[in-house]
Amino acid sequence: MESLTASANAFMRSALLGAADNRALQRFMYRHGMNLGARRFVAGETLDEFLRVVRSVNDRGVAVAAGLLGEGVAAERDAASVVHEYQHILRRLANLSLRSTIALKLTHLGLGLGRPLALDNVRTIVAEAKQLDNFVRMDMEQSAYTDATLTIYRTLREEGHDNVGTVLQAYLRRSERDLRELLPLRPNLRLVKGAYLESHEIAFQKKSDVDRNYLSLIEIALASPGFTAIATHDHAIIEQTIALINKAGLPPERFEFQMLYGVRPKLQEQLRDRGYRVRLAIPFGSQWYPYLMRRLAERPANLFFFLGTLWRR
Ligand SMILES: Cc1cc2nc3c(=O)[nH]c(=O)nc-3n(C[C@H](O)[C@H](O)[C@H](O)COP(=O)(O)OP(=O)(O)OC[C@H]3O[C@@H](n4cnc5c(N)ncnc54)[C@H](O)[C@@H]3O)c2cc1C
Repeated sequence: MESLTASANAFMRSALLGAADNRALQRFMYRHGMNLGARRFVAGETLDEFLRVVRSVNDRGVAVAAGLLGEGVAAERDAASVVHEYQHILRRLANLSLRSTIALKLTHLGLGLGRPLALDNVRTIVAEAKQLDNFVRMDMEQSAYTDATLTIYRTLREEGHDNVGTVLQAYLRRSERDLRELLPLRPNLRLVKGAYLESHEIAFQKKSDVDRNYLSLIEIALASPGFTAIATHDHAIIEQTIALINKAGLPPERFEFQMLYGVRPKLQEQLRDRGYRVRLAIPFGSQWYPYLMRRLAERPANLFFFLGTLWRR
């Protein structure tokens, strides 16, 4: 029965991640999705809406990682306008004294058009963030961009930028090697399970294998110098991580827990109440469709929540 449910979930996951490219569905969702429930995962389409959400999350004692939605720009000028938007976001966050770093996707800054362009663009944002005493995390996208993302991270660190971090995905078989190679930099890493559709040649497919690798990466990272963000809603893994932290007597400035806006809010509050640092990744902006499809794919029950909203209208 358990393996039947696992197969059904895997099928739904592939279907939903595949549907992320479906133009007709995309048009329908952009028209109606916000009213159908996308708002549970996306803090609005405008910066002002987003900033109001950040304020209320901060007031609850939780920090934020701000994400402007969008990925895979088609032209250099589009990437340049994303750079300006991030600079603007950083200034607004500083003016309002909000507790929020930023998290961005390198394809949104032109990585698909070439690595030098993405490097220049992210460098500009990292420099602006430094002036404002803020921090930039480069999300990890599909495996086609893993090498380029890690190279850009390494380049920025070698240039002396220390307010930048990136992400490793536990479903990729290569991640343990990547982690070990980054350790001499005392990296600032967010560890996640991984959200994209990847082949079995390069990625673990079984949840138990991903979970095992995830815990192993967490253990290696926490035992080494640097900062580790454990970004998961998996209660069992969070408790196992806390056991590791307690055993090592790790100070609070070495790690934090991160979750996604709209996912397991009670667990977020429980961790905060136990005295742990919690940061919510909160996305906003008009390009929310691919992000939403990844969230639905992670938990097919979310799709029924969506369809239920549609039915009730
Ligand atoms: C802060 C943050 C940043 C991230 N950045 C990246 C990134 O840069 N690159 C990348 O590939 N992935 C990223 N992810 C996504 C990540 O890879 C996983 O796809 C996602 O977190 C779901 O996996 P999980 O660790 O929560 O574990 P799972 O085993 O998938 O879930 C554990 C439990 O959490 C709950 N849950 C999980 N997801 C959802 C959901 N969408 N809706 C409702 N309940 C849910 C369910 O109860 C589930 O049983 C990020 C995740 C977080 C939290």
